[in-house]
Amino acid sequence: MIWESGRRINVKVLTSILVLVSVLLFGCGGIPNTESVFIPYVLEFIKDTKVDKERPLNTSISFKSLEGATVGKCNPITNEIVIDPMYWFRVATKLEKRALIYHEMMHCVQFVSHKKGKLKDGCPRSIMNPILPGNRCIKKHEKSYIEDLRDLCK
Ligand SMILES: [Zn+2]
Repeated sequence: MIWESGRRINVKVLTSILVLVSVLLFGCGGIPNTESVFIPYVLEFIKDTKVDKERPLNTSISFKSLEGATVGKCNPITNEIVIDPMYWFRVATKLEKRALIYHEMMHCVQFVSHKKGKLKDGCPRSIMNPILPGNRCIKKHEKSYIEDLRDLCK
């Protein structure tokens, strides 16, 4: 009997702790309507670019099938990003997923437009290239790509 009620209390305490942790992590309206798979990338974006966290946390990201070669889109007015699920789950590597979220975040959060140009090795100069850099280029130029975004966030 005592053990039974004790266990019940523990479940209650555990639930309260979980609710409290969620409120602390995502409270105050943070990350509304964002699919949970994107949240780690959003947090990494804030950390890497050192941008003020308010707008990234209030940008919604969801899945939507997109036409042709388009894999992501940002609507800076409504502050909504859509990502093509086929590309996300079947094609993109982890680095490419991160580059895609960073690219769309820069449109939505910093209102940055595309930045063309190539490096000597043929890789795009920036993650803000209209065609996203592939895995090989991201791996090779990761550091300068992040520095470029950080500069655009200043
Ligand atoms: Zn773009």
